Amino acid sequence: MTGMKIQSLPLRRTCKQAAALLVAREDRALRLADTVALRLHLLACKACPQFENQLLTMRLAMGRWRNYAGETESPDTEGLQRPD
Ligand SMILES: [Zn+2]
Repeated sequence: MTGMKIQSLPLRRTCKQAAALLVAREDRALRLADTVALRLHLLACKACPQFENQLLTMRLAMGRWRNYAGETESPDTEGLQRPD
């Protein structure tokens, strides 16, 4: 098992696939395999984490907009943990 490399696993995703997963994740929970693959890609890629940040920023803005009456100006973690 020691010869196994990440590159040989079926977990690799292209940037296009990773972006699609990031967008899909906004609507629904990803399968575990997709979650792992996405995380691996984000670790290895420079562009996709920036795209992820944009999505998170958008989501935070939307959430704040939706319940702006509740004025929850909390840090990033709140939007991330919500199971929806
Ligand atoms: Zn990428």
